[in-house]
Amino acid sequence: MEFKSISELQSLLNDKKISVKEIADTYIKKIKEKKDLNIFIYFNEDKIYEQVKNIENFSNEKKLKAIPIAVKDLFCTKNMPTTAASKILENFHPTYESFVTQRLVDMGAMFVGKTNLDEFAMGSATNTSYFGNTINPLSEKDIPLAPGGSSGGSAAAVAADLCLGATGTDTGGSIRQPASLCGVVGIKPTYGLCSRWGIAAFASSLDQAGVFSKNVTDSSILLEEMAGYDQRDSTSSNVKIPNFSKELNADMSGKIIGIPKEYAVDGISDEINQVWEDAIKSLEKKGAIIKKISLPHTKYALPTYYIIAPAEASSNLARYDGVKYGFRADDSNSLDEMYELTRSEGFGKEVKRRILIGTYVLSAGYYDAYYIKAQKVRKLIANDFVNRFSECDFILTPTAPSAAFPLNEKQDDPIKMYLNDVFTVPASLAGIPGISIPYGSDKKGLPLGIQILGKHYNEQEIFNAAFALEKDYE
Ligand code: GLN
Repeated sequence: MEFKSISELQSLLNDKKISVKEIADTYIKKIKEKKDLNIFIYFNEDKIYEQVKNIENFSNEKKLKAIPIAVKDLFCTKNMPTTAASKILENFHPTYESFVTQRLVDMGAMFVGKTNLDEFAMGSATNTSYFGNTINPLSEKDIPLAPGGSSGGSAAAVAADLCLGATGTDTGGSIRQPASLCGVVGIKPTYGLCSRWGIAAFASSLDQAGVFSKNVTDSSILLEEMAGYDQRDSTSSNVKIPNFSKELNADMSGKIIGIPKEYAVDGISDEINQVWEDAIKSLEKKGAIIKKISLPHTKYALPTYYIIAPAEASSNLARYDGVKYGFRADDSNSLDEMYELTRSEGFGKEVKRRILIGTYVLSAGYYDAYYIKAQKVRKLIANDFVNRFSECDFILTPTAPSAAFPLNEKQDDPIKMYLNDVFTVPASLAGIPGISIPYGSDKKGLPLGIQILGKHYNEQEIFNAAFALEKDYE
């Protein structure tokens, strides 16, 4: 049994054609059948049935009543453990709920489990997780593919139909890139739209929560519930959240679409260029005006990101010291040794690499040359977007430089892995919203993604453009 959308499941529930318990039974069965894909770090039937009892008492007016949602295991949840896919938090049971997940609970959502990710969201293939790789559900039997990352478990959960929506976080592309590789919709809203409260921090000036779903309408429904002001996050935006789903409008006539020449980089396949071209043509046919634009500082985005994100990570991850909570190494003879052993045994290789890079760029003597310089370049990258948005409504680019790749392909080469983010990090540095939708496929039939970037707080505009493009596949 497959439900295609939130509204389909809601009508069945309203018409009493399905019960909350039957929804739970259905998804529990599906999740068990796909156990080998290692999509969930935490899955517990009893916890789902506990929720059923509460949800049954909710009125059908609740916008997300009984909607099965998977939660990236970076969001703190009160009734399920939260690991950030790290040994250092293996047995961590938060005593509180993150702002975003609380919102979903209040609207009646049913959490089916906590999804796998790259350790502390550092990665692009969900292969740095302490709990093992997630396998992309679109893989052929003998060639397991990566689902992208870091929110690979969440993207895979939607692609494998183990939920109707999944939360993710995106610091440099972690929602948009896995959405592209798994063939689902994924949106990273404007920085500050969703509160970071209760989300394990990676790089605080970039981290932003968002959502995956099977279609644009469902993402718009979920985001309007997840977003909102929260005084516990000092960078939370106090803006009115539009009713995105109600305002969805596929009319593209007169819209001006920026096509940045810097995104036509060497080495991306003809298939990706073709899909990009097809999406441009389609929007033109729908009445939009195409405008070639330049975002001149794009080439500095990746190096800038890989200075700023590790710098903030090295500071944020200092809290994992074996004293307050989480893993503590045995057998130390002094406090210093306890810190050292805890951190060297508790963190994986990629996290250690980021901490080392981050500590280096923040250290006396290098701070100005790297960290301060990167902050200045970040401003130039953000200005590129602000300037261009005075002449276009949104920007259209590919989401990722390739379709899903074999699991172990880029494992031993961090630079190759970092290049996955080439199209997604500029928007992260600028704090603007971006959505990835499946659009076309490569020769092997694997989905490719198109990214639509918008002005700060103009999620509606990118939802609308995505909604218009989605119609090409209906
Ligand atoms: N792949 C990028 C990184 O490893 C982005 C991760 C993210 O957005 N959380 O830093």
